[in-house]
Amino acid sequence: MPKLELRTENCKSCGFCVAVCPKKVLELGEEVNKKGYHYVVAKRPEDCIGCMQCAIMCPDAIIEVYK
Ligand code: SF4
Ligand code: SF4
Repeated sequence: MPKLELRTENCKSCGFCVAVCPKKVLELGEEVNKKGYHYVVAKRPEDCIGCMQCAIMCPDAIIEVYK
């Protein structure tokens, strides 16, 4: 199973990664980071196929995908 690493302190809640994920792995969570944004969480990490679309889409490069 691919492993996701999310540097959530820099997430800006834009939702691009959530929208692009073909497996609906990612969601914007309830919690906020130090900047006040609802940061992304891996809700269904077991469904990740390692396509890297989320990492490519993120404008702040906070997502790493390890296969
Ligand atoms: S690597 Fe692909 S399947 Fe996995 S969370 Fe990112 S967009 Fe979704
Ligand atoms: S694309 Fe990046 S900044 Fe936008 S919600 Fe996803 S992780 Fe956060």
